Amino acid sequence: MKDAYNRTIDYVRIAVTDRCNLRCFYCMPENGIPYEPRPHLLSYEEITRLLNVLSTLGFSKVRFTGGEPFLRKDFMQLLENTANATDFQSIHITSNGTLLEKHIPKLKDLGITKINLSIDTLDPERFKTITRRDDFEKVMRCFHLLLENNFQVKLNAVIMAGINTQDIVPLAKLAERYPVSVRFIEEMPFNGGYKQNVKMFSAQAIRTTLENHFGTLTPLPGLHGDTSTEFSLPGHLGQIGIIAAFSRTFCNTCNRLRIGPKGEIKSCLYDDGVFNIRDFMRSGVSDVELTEKFEEIIRLKPKDGFEAERMRKAPNTAMKSMSSIGG
Ligand code: SAM
Repeated sequence: MKDAYNRTIDYVRIAVTDRCNLRCFYCMPENGIPYEPRPHLLSYEEITRLLNVLSTLGFSKVRFTGGEPFLRKDFMQLLENTANATDFQSIHITSNGTLLEKHIPKLKDLGITKINLSIDTLDPERFKTITRRDDFEKVMRCFHLLLENNFQVKLNAVIMAGINTQDIVPLAKLAERYPVSVRFIEEMPFNGGYKQNVKMFSAQAIRTTLENHFGTLTPLPGLHGDTSTEFSLPGHLGQIGIIAAFSRTFCNTCNRLRIGPKGEIKSCLYDDGVFNIRDFMRSGVSDVELTEKFEEIIRLKPKDGFEAERMRKAPNTAMKSMSSIGG
């Protein structure tokens, strides 16, 4: 379905939980965030119903994220339902890689092989400082196991001035030996509102750092809905990418909707939630009414992240944690 700016909206990101077992300081305060009680979360049957409605509107790609999706006990059941009882062929997961390993065989059985892993550094000590947990080895083991099992892996690294800019080149070098896309992301202010001074290292600064090491980078042609500007490097098996998440330079090709753990819909990451689809669904509406509601939401999708920010009712100091939005 097209929105008012002629963008085809066909990709939904669903945060299946707001819980996380890491405490990345750019995402959550050390003591976590107040988690939603389980009955407040969309059930997997409700998520499956929403996916079926969205597929009638032409949605074809779904990403499950969170929080940490593998923390949710019925997550594998949800994946099974999505693979077997919806028309979604393009099923993706974003994970921190700490709990995924034991699910690799089942994921393969289901044909779900597109995984984004988050890792902001290759230095175990810095990993501990950033995530406030000692899970570096676990994440790296998961990364290697996924590759050995022929998963299509993308790595996401949030880059912050004064914290991990020295990791940009070592992380990029992973693309030399492995067929992965290593993507560098600008920090955004979605940290639960507790941290006002975001140490944003811009997409341009990331590119300059990479070019100082690898030479001039020429962008690859973009794919539909790409937020990442991708570059190939001569002699590398994989590629690298830069996501200008704070500069918001890709909104004109945005193709996505987000659904949070409690069913709150965001038609832009920078809005403060435009509708609660869980409450609407639980009021007993039909699939036709759900479809019409999605059509209305898509029609009203803001032009870009700056417009969405201007339209917020809550102040920017109330920016939620990415864990409850679905990064
Ligand atoms: N637990 C999973 C994970 O770690 O990938 C999925 C949820 S996490 C919120 C999804 C992505 O959002 C991660 O790649 C994380 O680095 C990114 N993220 C979280 N907070 C962010 C922020 N303030 N700015 C930019 N990216 C952020």
